[in-house]
Amino acid sequence: MKSLSFLYESNKPVISFELFPPKTEQGNLHLFEHLRELINCRPAYLTCTYGAGGTTRERTLEVLTSIRSLYPHIPLASHLTCVGNTTDALRAYIRQALSIGVEHIVALRGDPPRGETSFEPVPDGLHYASELVHLIRKEFPQIGVSVAGYPETHPEAPSSAVDLENLKRKVDAGADIVVTQLFFENADYFRFRDRCDEIGIKVPIVPGILPVTNLTQTRRITSMCGTHLSPRLVRRLEVYNDDDEGQYAVGVYYAARQAEELIAQGAPGIHFYVLNKSRATAQICRSLALFTPDN
Ligand SMILES: Cc1cc2nc3c(=O)[nH]c(=O)nc-3n(C[C@H](O)[C@H](O)[C@H](O)COP(=O)(O)OP(=O)(O)OC[C@H]3O[C@@H](n4cnc5c(N)ncnc54)[C@H](O)[C@@H]3O)c2cc1C
Repeated sequence: MKSLSFLYESNKPVISFELFPPKTEQGNLHLFEHLRELINCRPAYLTCTYGAGGTTRERTLEVLTSIRSLYPHIPLASHLTCVGNTTDALRAYIRQALSIGVEHIVALRGDPPRGETSFEPVPDGLHYASELVHLIRKEFPQIGVSVAGYPETHPEAPSSAVDLENLKRKVDAGADIVVTQLFFENADYFRFRDRCDEIGIKVPIVPGILPVTNLTQTRRITSMCGTHLSPRLVRRLEVYNDDDEGQYAVGVYYAARQAEELIAQGAPGIHFYVLNKSRATAQICRSLALFTPDN
């Protein structure tokens, strides 16, 4: 089994999609309907979130197992957080993920539970994502590891410099890929990428893009993850306050322009936060002919 980092060795942009485990049967049906169109975009790999929005670890594994059986050739990454997990529980999860053919782990600390302001590990748990990377590298050398990076700085970090040093800790512990938090101004990504390079982070820094299709939902997401909506984008979306199709058209155009510029200026690929929907991402991939080659 190889880390997914080898995909970034070609000089063609690598397209990946992030899904989340639905909470309801209806949501599950919706995901697998949309997945068909997403797979037609020939992504290089798919990832599935863990625990975000209160979903359970079992749901992540169930979704990954179903994708594996329907699309056996698409490489899969499971997100995994330290929240509520002892080190033994983390080990058990990774073993289970390996047993269903997951190639890669996106190693995260996770957010404090709702209503709490600081992260407290469970007894015999881990404090930081870097410790999870270290555990995986030591005990599961066959599995690849991605980590999260924050072009606008993680909300809990005292400064961008400290946050970057902490990112370097994760890479020094053995992470192969950095995937960024979503952002709307490419200048934030380019600055972040250059600063990573300056402090010796040499792994691919993959920009994460959220195609906005609805201003209200996007405001909620950005306030949760501490990123800023671009005023340019908001101004255009507000023209279409009561017009879903108008907002959708603006969002798709904006994300396509973002992706085009990122790739033109050397980003190794694009990680799309697809939110289990295919239409916007498929249109962007088609309009920019963003298909991962040989896949
Ligand atoms: C690509 C991506 C995917 C995500 N997927 C999920 C998911 O599936 N499920 C989910 O619940 N959440 C997910 N998240 C959200 C993530 O869990 C939160 O952003 C969380 O608050 C931080 O996780 P982390 O792995 O970046 O933490 P860490 O890298 O551990 O950093 C957390 C904070 O601690 C600081 N820090 C790190 N190391 C040290 C140290 N040694 N000493 C002092 N301070 C330190 C950092 O600067 C930062 O402020 C994802 C985020 C991204 C960008």
